[in-house]
Amino acid sequence: MDKDRIVALIVAAGSGARMGGGIPKQYRKVAGVPVIARAVDALASHPAIDAVHVVIGAGQEALLAEALGNRAVTSSPGGASRRDSVRAGLEAIGAAKHVLIHDAARPFLPAAVVDRLLGALDAAEGAIPTLPVVDTLVRADGGTLGDTISRDGLARVQTPQAFGFDAILAAHRDWRGDAEPTDDAQVARGAGHTVLAVPGDAMLEKLTHEADFAAAEARLGAVMTSRTGMGNDVHAFAEGDHVMLCGLKIPHTQALAGHSDADVGLHAITDALLGTIADGDIGSHFPPSDPRWKGADSGTFLQHAASLVEAKGGIIDHVDLTIICEAPKVGPHRQAMRERIAELLTLPIGRVSVKATTTEQLGFTGRREGMAAQAVASVRLPEE
Ligand code: MG
Repeated sequence: MDKDRIVALIVAAGSGARMGGGIPKQYRKVAGVPVIARAVDALASHPAIDAVHVVIGAGQEALLAEALGNRAVTSSPGGASRRDSVRAGLEAIGAAKHVLIHDAARPFLPAAVVDRLLGALDAAEGAIPTLPVVDTLVRADGGTLGDTISRDGLARVQTPQAFGFDAILAAHRDWRGDAEPTDDAQVARGAGHTVLAVPGDAMLEKLTHEADFAAAEARLGAVMTSRTGMGNDVHAFAEGDHVMLCGLKIPHTQALAGHSDADVGLHAITDALLGTIADGDIGSHFPPSDPRWKGADSGTFLQHAASLVEAKGGIIDHVDLTIICEAPKVGPHRQAMRERIAELLTLPIGRVSVKATTTEQLGFTGRREGMAAQAVASVRLPEE
């Protein structure tokens, strides 16, 4: 264990799903990215932080793995209370110089707050971000107003909270307080340590209520940019009795030749989606030389491209496909094709367009030698 490292400990052990969405709020997505992934990214990308450890609730391993993808974090199980979870996380980390203890539900962490916290640790064993109280405070037992409480000297407490690692671990091990602490500054002060307050940030507000998620989505939406990608594909006709088109088996006097199932429609949309994130093309992700893709269902390719867009926090707004051929007729299958594409992309059908045209018997499609498809995809992505 490296005793000189600075480690971030994210507490994500809550199981509260009452806000809706069916899963604990730290695993819910905000603008396409899970809350906990945003918290991890904010800490892991800070140059002073060497490692990130996450404390999760019982049975949340699969949720964490899905939310974090290939992000390099360690994790361990939490306990019955927040205090138990933090202590378990500190024990799992083992050794460090400083630790920043953070709540997963505060995903929008400006780097400047981390700078201020770590700077303050030169002068004390603990430092926390706080904000001034701006609202009037009153006692309101039972709905009838009581006395107004002076705001003088009061502050609102945020996380991450930064500590000398040995000091906060010992303080947690020695905690004897009567009331359950709601943050780690209380534990540090209980052990006699001085805890400094540094300016927090309004961006760090905790995502608690449904409206908090909506506000965060709206704020992130304002800094998303539109991307448009295009895709083109061609496959030659060969002997056979059906073609695969937009995931559907369509009876025809010929088949389409290709390494995979030769679905020109899905291939064009896949390339259009890859274009929105500037991430190569279908051939670079699924090379025809790879035997794994022989006869492959092209729905797999499309869903992989969509997952890459999603991993970048992207939102697919619309896909528009044009199929170019003399036959088979697309019209009778248009609605089913839209439904299948919408299903593969988990999009409302109103955001999926399928069009068809001939080339007036000109060129290879006009001579019925093959089919072509063109697609355009519109995506919103967080600003880079
Ligand atoms: Mg193709």
